[in-house]
Amino acid sequence: MHLIPFYVVDRDLAAAETRVIHLFAPHEGIPAGDYSLVEFYCPDPDCDCRRVMLNIVEEKEIDRFLASISYGFDRYEEKAGPFLDSLNPQSEYARALLRLVDRLVLSDPHYVARLERHYALVKQAASDPDHPAYHKLQKVLADDAEQFPLPWPSRKPRRKPLKRKRRPRRKRRK
Ligand SMILES: [Zn+2]
Repeated sequence: MHLIPFYVVDRDLAAAETRVIHLFAPHEGIPAGDYSLVEFYCPDPDCDCRRVMLNIVEEKEIDRFLASISYGFDRYEEKAGPFLDSLNPQSEYARALLRLVDRLVLSDPHYVARLERHYALVKQAASDPDHPAYHKLQKVLADDAEQFPLPWPSRKPRRKPLKRKRRPRRKRRK
């Protein structure tokens, strides 16, 4: 079974609440850039894993995960993490990104509370047939889903690039 990206469950909330680290200068070998922490969760409503996978992407290359960081909400657990997930490919920046995320982001209790809230929303969606994402999640649970397309830059809803409506021409006054 796949983990599912949070934006599958609530795109608007994901756009509003995905954390981005802006590096204005290189840091420990990581190039300057905008690094989004794209959240993935386990959608199985019967599983109480209480974890998130944070996949780090730079906004100019959003289809490449630079680090996959596993993090458990129950801090006393032995495998709480954060750690680099060994099943996922990691980039040459992964260790430095892990340190950065740990120090800068996961130390913020508000952010961790937000992750837990998103986790709960995913579980809820997977057990509520009226939720718009329910059927997608069921497909994932049945191991029947295609990979999800990778995320759009997480900051704001994107402007549509094409097909702009033409303004009606102004009539010239005489
Ligand atoms: Zn789980």
